[in-house]
Amino acid sequence: MDLFEYQAKELFAKHGVPVTPGTVAFTPEEAREAAEAYGGPVVVKAQVKTGGRGKAGGVKLADSPDDAEAKAADILGLDIKGHVVRRLLITPAADIDTEYYVSFLLDRANRTYLGMASVEGGMDIEEVARTKPEALARVPIDALTGVDAAKALEIVSEARFPEDVAGQVADVLQQLWRVIVEEDATLVEVNPLIKTPDGQILALDGKVTLDENADFRHPDNAQYAVHDETDPLEAAAKAKDLNYVKLDGSVGVIGNGAGLVMSTLDVVAYAGEDFGGVKPANFLDIGGGASAEVMANGLEIILSDPQVKAVLVNVFGGITSCDAVANGIAQAFAMLAERGDVVDRPIVCRLDGNNAEEGRRILNESGNEVVELVATMDAAARRVAELAAAK
Ligand code: GDP
Ligand code: MN
Repeated sequence: MDLFEYQAKELFAKHGVPVTPGTVAFTPEEAREAAEAYGGPVVVKAQVKTGGRGKAGGVKLADSPDDAEAKAADILGLDIKGHVVRRLLITPAADIDTEYYVSFLLDRANRTYLGMASVEGGMDIEEVARTKPEALARVPIDALTGVDAAKALEIVSEARFPEDVAGQVADVLQQLWRVIVEEDATLVEVNPLIKTPDGQILALDGKVTLDENADFRHPDNAQYAVHDETDPLEAAAKAKDLNYVKLDGSVGVIGNGAGLVMSTLDVVAYAGEDFGGVKPANFLDIGGGASAEVMANGLEIILSDPQVKAVLVNVFGGITSCDAVANGIAQAFAMLAERGDVVDRPIVCRLDGNNAEEGRRILNESGNEVVELVATMDAAARRVAELAAAK
């Protein structure tokens, strides 16, 4: 479970990490009241579970309660990478001298934990990792020995933190590690960790992922599950019994079978690299049966995502043969037309497996001009990425 920034900072504070105080606001009036209570300039921050809020206009400085109310009105309702802003964090503005980056995460590939730190924080850390890898220290952490004073200093020196903040940053690293261990987190990230002009270290932003497998050990953390924040598309899909997960890209994906859909996501992301980083927009498994109604419901959900520029239907005919699936797809279009949903984006279909020939013939003859048949999964992924990039 990913936490909101304000929840992450609550956990940070519980473990001694220095943070600024904050108040959650749901309306511009509440933002004004919080700003009045703090007295000085505040920062109005969108609470959405995605990064890059600053760049998207979701983090704004306000120098008066009036201004806080106005900035709150601007930010509420904003769509940040498909996440609509419904709550804000109002926090006293900190003066920034320098922005740093620190994080710990479960490094599954290397079967260990990883500590990362950089004196070049604030901006997109992926960008730092790509353009200046030497500026991002990466230190493996043994889960059994963890981050003691020596390990913390090792990270601090690898990242070349200046002398005047080394001790404070090392303390923060040990406190953040305690969040990993005591809260069963798989990720804690602070970007930026700042130095104020008077030399104080503060966590200005926070990201925490809790391991849901350990929920039973943390009854208190159940409060962090916010049910009204479920993505509206995911909620609509759930109401239709569809196995749908919203992602951030532009290629809608439908397939039959969870394994096939997962590998389709990989293949689309891989093909998308050649088209400026096109990525999948969702996971949707319509299961073995793939009736016309399920297909129609799936297409409806996917096409109601405005980020979707093109759709890939990837079907492998097994027990349900391709001709049945093809009929399902053809009927799904008819159903959508009846419901008044225009299929206005290209649909690439790849049908393979049992009775594929017949399935392709049916789809070809259904005469739907938005549908394009591509024979292999790789070629279909390339084609759909190309179509999505061209939009
Ligand atoms: P993100 O864009 O989602 O990572 O949101 P952040 O909370 O990291 O805020 C983005 C940027 O806004 C930070 O890197 C800071 O440069 C700036 N910012 C955030 N809080 C403050 C603050 O209290 N004072 C000042 N001066 N800038 C801030
Ligand atoms: Mn940040």
